[in-house]
Amino acid sequence: MKIACIGEVMIELSPAGEGLMRAGVAGDSFNTAVYLSRLLGPGVVSYVTALGCDPQSDRIMDAIAAEGIATDLCERVPDGLPGLYMITLDDRGERSFAYWRSTSAARGLFSRAGGIGPDTLAGFDVIYLSAITLAVIAPEARARLLDWLAGFRDRGGKVAFDSNYRPRLWPDAETARTEIGRFWSATDIALPSLDDEEALTGMIGSEATVARFRVLGVGTGALKRGAAGPVALDGSGAALRVPRADRVTDTTAAGDSFNAGFIAATLTGASATAAMAAGHALAARVIAHPGAIIPRSAMPTA
Ligand code: ADP
Repeated sequence: MKIACIGEVMIELSPAGEGLMRAGVAGDSFNTAVYLSRLLGPGVVSYVTALGCDPQSDRIMDAIAAEGIATDLCERVPDGLPGLYMITLDDRGERSFAYWRSTSAARGLFSRAGGIGPDTLAGFDVIYLSAITLAVIAPEARARLLDWLAGFRDRGGKVAFDSNYRPRLWPDAETARTEIGRFWSATDIALPSLDDEEALTGMIGSEATVARFRVLGVGTGALKRGAAGPVALDGSGAALRVPRADRVTDTTAAGDSFNAGFIAATLTGASATAAMAAGHALAARVIAHPGAIIPRSAMPTA
C-alpha cells in the first residue's frame, strides 16, 4: 500500500514565553500524513510538495523524514522558500493565526517547467489532498491534477479528499464552490466537515449534506461534526455517538487526525462505523494535547 499526501507544509511559529517563538512544522495535509505514517508504519506514506533549498526547507524535510514519510516527491526549488504562520495567544488563551504563504514554493507545485507533475503519482494506491492543497496550487495545476485523477481512478486508484474550506485562500466563494465540487466528484473517500460544507454551499444541516454526498456517489467517508460525532457517507447514514471529551486543550488538527484514523482503518478493511471510531479515537487524543502533532507516546493503542 502506498499513499501520497499532497499539499503545503509550513514553518509554524508558536509562543514560547515572553518575546520568544518556537519553530515547528505543520500544515493540514502534512498533519494527516504524519498520523497516517504513525498508524500504517514507515515507508507507506509519501509527502508531495515544493520547498526551497534554504535552511527552513531543510528543517521541514527533516521533520517529514523523521516521521518515516518518503521525501522523494518533495520538489526543491532554487531561491524558493516555504510558507510561514505565526500563532498568537490573547489574554484568555484564544489562538489567532497570521500567515505568510503567498510566495511559498508550494504555490508552483505541478506547474513548474522541469518540476514534478501529477504523473509522478502513478505508483500510488491512494492520493490524499484537501481544498487547501487546491487553493494553494495554480488554477492550471488544479485542472491538470483533476484530469489526471480520472485516469488514476479508472486504474483502481482511490482519492481521499477533505474540503477544509479557508475562504481567505480563494479569490471568491464561487470559485471555491466550483473547484471543490469538481474534486468531490472525483473522490472515493470523502472527509468533509459540516461547518465547511455549510459555509461553502449554504445548505444547512447534516441531513442535507449527507444527502448531497449520496447523490455525488462517493464510496465511503464521514461527515465530521465536532463534538456531535461524525456521520457515515457510505449510504448507511450511520452516526457515531462520541463520548464527551475528557479534555479539550487545542482542537488544531482534530479533522486532520480524524481523517488519518478513518483512512488507515478503511484501507485495512474496516466498515465506515469502525473507521469513524478509529478516527475519533485519534482525534480525541489530539485535542487533549497542545499543537497539531502529539507525542508518539500519546497515540492511541490499537
Ligand atoms: P474539523 O477540524 O475538520 O472541523 P471536527 O471539529 O469535526 O473537524 O473534529 C473532527 C473530529 O474530532 C470529530 O469528528 C470528533 O471525532 C473529534 N472532536 C472534535 N471536537 C470534539 C469535542 N469537543 N469533543 C469530542 N470529540 C471532538
